[in-house]
Amino acid sequence: ARKFFVGGNFKMNGTKGSIKSIVKGLNEAQLDSNVEVVIAPPSLYLQLAQAELTKAGVAVSAQNVYDKPNGAYTGEISVAQLKDSDIHWTILGHSERRTLLGETDEVVASKTKVAIDGGLSVVWCCGESLEEREGGNTIAVIERQLSALAAKVSGADWAKIVIAYEPIWAIGTGKVATVEQAQDVHAAIRKWLRANVSDAVADATRILYGGSVNGKNCKDLAKEQDIDGFLVGGASLKPEFIDIINSNL
Ligand code: 13P
Repeated sequence: ARKFFVGGNFKMNGTKGSIKSIVKGLNEAQLDSNVEVVIAPPSLYLQLAQAELTKAGVAVSAQNVYDKPNGAYTGEISVAQLKDSDIHWTILGHSERRTLLGETDEVVASKTKVAIDGGLSVVWCCGESLEEREGGNTIAVIERQLSALAAKVSGADWAKIVIAYEPIWAIGTGKVATVEQAQDVHAAIRKWLRANVSDAVADATRILYGGSVNGKNCKDLAKEQDIDGFLVGGASLKPEFIDIINSNL
């Protein structure tokens, strides 16, 4: 069985004070022990979160990493620097980085490979825009993103990848995908993995849903066969993040 996984993507939000208080909330909460949790604060606060966190089953994740080992890359952070700071996870390919910061499918795939080779685990994000969904291209877009990934990673790399399906139209909009819309895409992703990677990878890979997940809508989504957890934005900054982690209780 796939272990349920919940990620909190703080995006460019928070202060020392607010991040300490979120971590304190997690440290003191009763969390379902069958859930793997990561929280991804802005890079400036990764070490603070790491230092404050005492809860078993919760890890700290970066939101991005660069795909070069070191050098003249102003503003970027390397995989080795994350490892040096005891950070073992990163999110990659978030739609905000793809759309606002110009990351292509190939750049995201390259970053994913470099991150895994450097010893990180990756929450790899994919998802379609509203135009793409309305044009009937949802699955084609996801398959294009997956194909770029599969061109770079292979074999054991897949064990280090958690896939997050985040329809762009559902992110930060309060417009959550219906249970059917999410389950359909998750099933298509798993089918693609089965056809293009292996049965073992298709069966083992966690596929998260992200986009306006909250403490109320999480339980129904979590019941679906191919929804193995969530990547949470806005609600990960609030106490209801605990309810999302505990979706299956
Ligand atoms: P919201 O939960 O705020 O819609 O954000 C989802 C997301 O982008 C998580 O990575």
